[in-house]
Amino acid sequence: MENKFLDSTRYINLENKKINKDLPELYSNKENCCGCGACYSICPVSAIIMQEDGEGFLYPSVYADKCIGCYKCLKVCSFNPKKFSDKADDESDIYLDETKVYASRIKNQEILAKSSSGGMFTAFTDYLIDNNYAVVCSIMDYENKTLEFSIVNDKNKRDEARGSKYFQSDSKNIFSESIAYLKADANHRIAFVGTGCQTEAFRKYIYMHNLNDRVLLIDIICHGVPSKKIVMEYIKYLTGGTGEFDYITYKDKRNGWSKPVSLIKYDNKEYKLNKDICYNANTIRLSCNVCPYTKTKRKSDITIGDFWGIEKQHPEFYSETGNSLVLIHSKKGMELFNRIKPDIEYVESSVDKCLQPNLKKPTMRSKDRAKFWNDYNSKSFSYVVKKYEMIGLYKKIRNKAKKIIRGKK
Ligand SMILES: Cc1cc2nc3c(=O)[nH]c(=O)nc-3n(C[C@H](O)[C@H](O)[C@H](O)COP(=O)(O)OP(=O)(O)OC[C@H]3O[C@@H](n4cnc5c(N)ncnc54)[C@H](O)[C@@H]3O)c2cc1C
Repeated sequence: MENKFLDSTRYINLENKKINKDLPELYSNKENCCGCGACYSICPVSAIIMQEDGEGFLYPSVYADKCIGCYKCLKVCSFNPKKFSDKADDESDIYLDETKVYASRIKNQEILAKSSSGGMFTAFTDYLIDNNYAVVCSIMDYENKTLEFSIVNDKNKRDEARGSKYFQSDSKNIFSESIAYLKADANHRIAFVGTGCQTEAFRKYIYMHNLNDRVLLIDIICHGVPSKKIVMEYIKYLTGGTGEFDYITYKDKRNGWSKPVSLIKYDNKEYKLNKDICYNANTIRLSCNVCPYTKTKRKSDITIGDFWGIEKQHPEFYSETGNSLVLIHSKKGMELFNRIKPDIEYVESSVDKCLQPNLKKPTMRSKDRAKFWNDYNSKSFSYVVKKYEMIGLYKKIRNKAKKIIRGKK
């Protein structure tokens, strides 16, 4: 490589030294990186850092002079699986021949009311915690306003992970901390719960350390992660500049499961979040538009999400208290589902009946994405809020009018 200052977003060459080695290309363009941080964690010489881009998403950069060219970072990459052979691919005996599909919900009504969907996260992890597993899940740190993975082994702490937050959870050092936790005691086990890309990254990381026998993987169906930067700016705007909140959920069920309310609370005061701003397709991470995990066949043990369309597919089971979709991929996942049956209601379904858009393909890139970010960067945030609130309002009116016209025909 020439003695030149390397592309500063992907490589850092502090002393502008001549680099005589092939540096790993972690992503060729932003679509190829989901920001899971597995490459950062696996680097044996700490030559990778995660840095926020202008949209508030994390991307890795390689210190060119520190890199020793072991390419472990490329091997662990979950986002471009074509690049490397995967030893787990050969272990087909751990998976079921056919994905098993269930509609389900936890029986405990209090937990169900607090859960985003049918409370299956709690149903599974209750059993796992009782049986010597620690749970790795995303917990909001309200003081620092960050959403981060933590290792928890008590149910009260686990409860803090409840509620879907529609922005990306930071994995920080969770990969290496999990390895340390597993190595500390041969009886330690971990259940990882995260989005498809994060869970696949965790799976590869664990495989590369030969600890997969003690890990169970639960991934969640995901339409994409919006920019946390926009969400936090929006919260500042709503709270008159303080940006303070001590509770956030995107799936409050006060109007029923099918009409989730997004809100924050601070000092018992409630502020509704407008989805046209904080849940705007223009702000979704670029990699989510080409996500390889928007399918029913996965290498996790279990996938959980909402059972959208249940009122038509299983009207006898449908309830506005909440409906989870559970996809079971592995024998270990099936055994866990069987164990928790006394705590849940369920009905068997099928892949055909449960297909929602993000189980078929990634969310399409919004055609207005560049315009949105241009508005954000060149004008004020309040300009963006007003403009996109208006667009959302206009769309709602237009859709209502269309429905009325269709109804009249
Ligand atoms: C960004 C995002 C997009 C989603 N998109 C869809 C979708 O398109 N279709 C669908 O059917 N379901 C989607 N879900 C999943 C759904 O909202 C529920 O999280 C899931 O059904 C579990 O519900 P529950 O009642 O069992 O969980 P709850 O008890 O409410 O627990 C929520 C679970 O989600 C995890 N979690 C919350 N926020 C994040 C985050 N930002 N990153 C990683 N993990 C997180 C928590 O750790 C916990 O495990 C999405 C979730 C998220 C976070």
